[in-house]
Amino acid sequence: MTQNIAFIGLGNMGGPMAKNLIKNDFNVTVYDLNSAAVAELKAAGANSADNAKSAIKDADVIISMLPNGAIVKSLYTGSNGLIDQIVNEGKDNVLIIDSSTIAADDARAVGKACEQKGIAMIDAPVSGGTAAAEAGTLTFICGGEPTHFEAAKVVLNAMGRHIFHAGASGAGQVAKICNNMLLAIHMVGTAEALNMGAQQGLDPAVMSEIMKASSGNNWSLQVYNPYPGVMPNVPSSKDYQGGFMVDLMSKDLGLSQELAAKSKSATPLGALATQLYQIHQAGGAGDKDFSSILQLLQKKES
Ligand code: NAD
Repeated sequence: MTQNIAFIGLGNMGGPMAKNLIKNDFNVTVYDLNSAAVAELKAAGANSADNAKSAIKDADVIISMLPNGAIVKSLYTGSNGLIDQIVNEGKDNVLIIDSSTIAADDARAVGKACEQKGIAMIDAPVSGGTAAAEAGTLTFICGGEPTHFEAAKVVLNAMGRHIFHAGASGAGQVAKICNNMLLAIHMVGTAEALNMGAQQGLDPAVMSEIMKASSGNNWSLQVYNPYPGVMPNVPSSKDYQGGFMVDLMSKDLGLSQELAAKSKSATPLGALATQLYQIHQAGGAGDKDFSSILQLLQKKES
């Protein structure tokens, strides 16, 4: 039987993810505060809704892909949230999948509120960026009950290639935040190396090929080169538009440092990367892709 899916949050990631569900013959109803994003999905074959509550009316599965934990919590919990609506309407067997990157504690709070009402919920943040969202090759990093994880797999497989169960509720967010702290560190390092080579007169494209075949090879070099013009179709070659915003990377690094303090973990490079992204953000780069950290390092024309 075709599953009805409500998809809430159609930004850089959510939009292409919802399109892949449509391509895989799910019946998708979408909602976003941005009506242009809703219209784009409608043109791609989705049903549209004017608010989250009407989007979930017939849903078997609810997926959210939203900017931060405060928004996710207000969507689901509280007197006017979707959890109450699900209970009030007597809907059975609804599965909630939150793919936003949020604090593990926020994910656990929503998970607990669901559990108390007998609603299945997993945290399922993603890795892979917008290209993987479009290609349907995301990595999903899930936390929650094993049975809920198994039930989510059929839907997640339509949007991703690697689907992991990291542990109990919130574990997906812990693993995701560890990954993104590492991503920020190797993006800054990659930008530093390319910038230093370029300032010595080397061609960043040649430098990139050398490092990809050497011990400095990493994901930022392979698929997300921060130097403009080295790779087609990545944000650095599109004036750092689209992709993964500095605002969102700063949020994730902030979450990593909260987690580090809470777990008494030493993360000196994570702390430095957090500071660098905050400086970059304060300089007005919040809505640029995070690979634009290269611009913070480049010599300014005087
Ligand atoms: P985005 O800002 O492009 O999209 C967020 C969307 O949510 C926007 O369209 C916005 O209008 C909508 N929205 C905000 N509040 C809403 C509400 N109350 N109701 C309905 N819609 C609402 O962000 P994104 O890049 O798509 O990222 C979404 C999440 O995925 C974030 O948590 C981010 O950290 C995570 N993430 C992003 C990437 C990436 O490469 N962009 C990769 C992995 C994870």
